[in-house]
Formats: sequence, structure tokens, C-alpha cells
Amino acid sequence: MFNIPQGKFIVFGKIFWPQDFFIFGLAMVTFIFFIILFTAAFGRLFCGWACPQTNFMEMMFRKIEFMVLGTANEQKALKKAPWTGNKIFKVTLNHVLFFLLSFIIANIFLAYIVGIDDLEKIITEPVGDHLVGLSSLLIFSGIFYAVYAFFREQACTVVCPYGRLQSVLLDKNSMIVAYDYKRGEPRGIQKKNQPAELQLGDCIDCFQCVRVCPTGIDIRNGVQMECVGCTACIDACNDVMDKIHKPRGLIRYASENSIATGEPLHYTPRMKLYTGLCLVVLILLSVLLFTRKDIDVTIMRTPGLLFQEKGTDSVSNLYNIKVMNKTDKDIPLTIKIENVNGEVQIVGKPYVHVVKEGQGSGSFFLVLPKKDIHNRKTEVKLALYEGDKKILTETTSFLGPVQ
Ligand code: SF4
Ligand code: SF4
Repeated sequence: MFNIPQGKFIVFGKIFWPQDFFIFGLAMVTFIFFIILFTAAFGRLFCGWACPQTNFMEMMFRKIEFMVLGTANEQKALKKAPWTGNKIFKVTLNHVLFFLLSFIIANIFLAYIVGIDDLEKIITEPVGDHLVGLSSLLIFSGIFYAVYAFFREQACTVVCPYGRLQSVLLDKNSMIVAYDYKRGEPRGIQKKNQPAELQLGDCIDCFQCVRVCPTGIDIRNGVQMECVGCTACIDACNDVMDKIHKPRGLIRYASENSIATGEPLHYTPRMKLYTGLCLVVLILLSVLLFTRKDIDVTIMRTPGLLFQEKGTDSVSNLYNIKVMNKTDKDIPLTIKIENVNGEVQIVGKPYVHVVKEGQGSGSFFLVLPKKDIHNRKTEVKLALYEGDKKILTETTSFLGPVQ
């Protein structure tokens, strides 16, 4: 959950607050580092296989389109056809289904922002109580609908910053979807009894690879920024190769260098190095995430107060404690002194109550025997316990009279 209004983030069950922002910063740096290395080695693999835009488009919206409007050729024919009742029905149904799906996606998207409990309230409680929530839902639905119904792959080629970075991230050894021009050219349909010197390459210029390309490019023209690596052209061309009894792979995953030399794509030392570096940054981030403490504590002596004499043989200091609970359960905290003789007296209750996913605060006295105070400042180690379980240790200073 990325609850920006409340500044609360939950990633894989771990709760993060603005105080943990350095981890987010580090995660962003790791992410960018990972993207640069991954792209340099494996090209736009992410775009074609993991990007939500591509997956939603190919696996949901385009499936609906095919179901309602028919295959690509049928859709073209329908577009040219006059506006009959059948055409109006099909086009309207298509757009209604697109909007419904966009609305469902918007609900899930909003749940990531406000949390599933608040989303349930927006859905079940009176509309007037949640005008902002409802408006957000409709705005998100409208944006998703506009993107998937009209804007489509232009999001990848015009808007997506990752797509625009391809030209600087890729090099001649990067793995890309590539046309084997050495094998395919000169392209054209081989005639019977063609003289040996006029023998053509394997590409029969059928344009199937161009027809299936969602961004409308011709991969035979070389690496292009618009290629999202979806591999639809690979499948289409392999089908053609099967039909004309030629080996598959005229369009395949390859690097520019491997096409030029005719060598198969190798898992080069550079790719291995980049993969290793990606793993190292991921491991570093994981260690940071999983060793992160479940609570954050601030203990400060109450400002303006020095020390108080308690009877004839003891001295006390008053402290304020603030606790941030990053878990999903309430924690009753007790405090014990670890390194010196003395007593902790929590004001009001025997423990500091910290609500789940929230903050708790309180005040307490540290009472030390006078005979054990030898300096103006004494370092005191305080252990915080939940029941019998020690959660963490904090160090503070205790002010006493100069002996
Ligand atoms: S060129 Fe091929 S891999 Fe690239 S976007 Fe078009 S169909 Fe997909
Ligand atoms: S699908 Fe294959 S054979 Fe047909 S035009 Fe594309 S590269 Fe050539």
C-alpha cells in the first residue's frame, strides 16, 4: 500500500513511515541501477513481459477487443463498414466493457493508495460521505479507459521515460528482438528455377511481422525505440518459416553483434558481471529491509528539568518517550535499566501502550540511588520489553548532583 495522504507505505507486509524514507531512497537508487544494468544486458525484456501497461493491454483489453470486434482483419473491415445497427452494438459493447474493466482496475489501484478498508467504506457507505474517494475512482477509471481505448502503445513510445532511455542504455551486445538480415536479405518471393546468382534470402516479404507489431514498426529496419520487445513478430515470422519449410529464428532474440558475426547469442562476461551487480544491490537492499527494526524509539530527558532529589538517598530524572510501531499489533512496552542499579517509574500506567501501525508516547522517571552516581552525567542503558521479549536497547544520560 502506498498511502501518500497518510505518509504510510506497506511493502510485502512491512510498514514504512516517512522516517524510513532513506530506505525508499535507497530502493529507488537500486531500482534505477537495476534497470540500467538489466537493460544493458537484456534489452527491453521488461517492457514485453513484465510491464503492467503491456500485460493489461495484451492479456485483457486486446482479448476483449478480439472477442467483441473479431480478428485484426475483421476489425479493419468493421472500421470501413457503414454505421449499421450491428456495428453500433459491437463498438458500444466494446467501449462499455473497456470502461468496466478500467473501473475494476481503478478500484484495485485506489486500494493500493488508501488501503482496502477505506476502499470498502467508499464502496459501501453513502456517496455524500466519500465524494473525494468517488471522484478519484472516476478520474482513475477515465484515465485507464482513455489509455487502453485510445492512447495504447503511444504510452510506451511517447510517454514512458524507460522507453525513451533505450537508445542510451542499449549497446551492440545487448539482447534485443532482432531481424537476421544476413539470412533474410535480399527479401522477396523465390521464383521457381531462379538462377543461383539471384537467389533470395529467407524473408519472403510477407509483412506478417509488421502486421502483428502493436507499435506498428518494421523490425527489419533495425533496432527502433518503438520496439517494446513483445516478440509478437518472432511468433508471426516463425509461423511463416514453418509454412515455407525454413528454419525458425529469422527474427529472434539476438544482439546486433551476434547477427553481424552469425554467432549465437552468448551469455557474455559483461552480462554475467551486470547480473552479478544486480544481485549484489538486490541482496544489499533485502538485508536492509529484513534487518529493519519493527519499532523506532526516541527517549529524551524532559527539557528544562535537571534532577529531583527523591528522599535522602535517591535522585530522579524525568524523560519523555515516543515510540513508532511499524507492526500490525498493539505493543505494551515496559522499560528496564540494564547497566546500573535503579528503578523505572512510568507515569500513569505500568507500561507504554503503542497502537498498531501508530505511535505511542509517555513519560517516566528514572530513579537512581545517590551512592551510585559518581559523575554529573551517568550513561544509562534502557531495555524495552514486550512481555518477556526484549525488543531493543536505547542509551540515555542521567543528570545527577556533582559529588
Ligand atoms: S518489433 Fe516485434 S518485438 Fe518489437 S514491438 Fe513490434 S512485434 Fe513487438
Ligand atoms: S514475417 Fe518473416 S518472412 Fe514475413 S516479412 Fe517478416 S521477416 Fe520477412
